[in-house]
Amino acid sequence: MNATVIETRGLTKRYGPTVAVEGLDLEIRKGEVFGLLGPNGSGKTTTILMLIGLTEPTSGELSVLGLDPRLTPLMVKRQVGYLPDAVGFYDELTAWENLRYITKLNGLPAAEADRRIGAALERMGLARVANQRVATFSRGMRQRLGLAELLCKTPQVVILDEPTLGLDPEAARDFLALIRQLKEDGITVLLSSHLLHQVQEVCDRVGLFSRGRMLLTGSVEALARQVLGSAWRVHLEAQPAPSDPEGALLRAALEQVPGVRLVQAESTGHWRVDAQQDVRSELAQAALGAGARLIGLTQARPGLDEVYARYFQEAADEA
Ligand code: ADP
Ligand code: MG
Repeated sequence: MNATVIETRGLTKRYGPTVAVEGLDLEIRKGEVFGLLGPNGSGKTTTILMLIGLTEPTSGELSVLGLDPRLTPLMVKRQVGYLPDAVGFYDELTAWENLRYITKLNGLPAAEADRRIGAALERMGLARVANQRVATFSRGMRQRLGLAELLCKTPQVVILDEPTLGLDPEAARDFLALIRQLKEDGITVLLSSHLLHQVQEVCDRVGLFSRGRMLLTGSVEALARQVLGSAWRVHLEAQPAPSDPEGALLRAALEQVPGVRLVQAESTGHWRVDAQQDVRSELAQAALGAGARLIGLTQARPGLDEVYARYFQEAADEA
């Protein structure tokens, strides 16, 4: 088991009567990509600000790389790269000049700074535009420049607040792939997002927030299994046997496959099957056994959006 890099116990932040974060227990291990996910106003940014020592917690325990950000904020900031939800650069300076300015502020010797800036821009796919003014950059390029800036610090931990906000889907995917690559260098990544579906693929584990509380944590697959009862979803297209025009026999055959939880007709000849494990070959056999003509079989994973909606629906139903 990898070392714990970020740990909180009962971490709480109140603004007057508003409870922004309540009783947060978080444990993030070295090399993990962890997502703090939840709607706007659920406490993600406040959590991040406490972790990097920019906001004082009201109560609770916290440790980042073994340090308490309340006591040694500068030591934490030196080892943790933080990308706020809005990154500012000097538009009239080039990408290189912007990073040079920041490394100078951080007291990095020129030769070492040049080496790190070159490597970071290369890494973020910005080497070709290094000498272009930032004014000409798209939002996606600015976000990558923000990440390049963090990498110049050679941080052990990177914390990104809403990193895909305002990016088009393609730029968001590219950016998430870059985040995922940091993991290969052993960098621990904590990111926040209200776009559950968009970021779920890059996170090893996620914590789902609602109104200041982290109500669920785990891998996407574990949460899908816990909340939806199934982590696998198969879309099956088949033409029922001529003797089974309504597909009732086919449906019954699919339902009898061990591990299948739910079979739903989506449209004529299309079925959605939720299952506890990968049952594709069993479903194919069952369909053929019922005399159907199998046309297609694809697998998808239920998304976090659905996990979130179902969890809160059930909580509301119980209340
Ligand atoms: P998120 O990042 O998930 O959108 P925030 O952490 O920004 O959520 O906010 C959580 C709650 O705390 C919200 O109700 C917000 O209005 C409140 N809040 C955040 N910052 C402040 C502040 N500086 N003063 C007063 N209330 C705040
Ligand atoms: Mg926020």
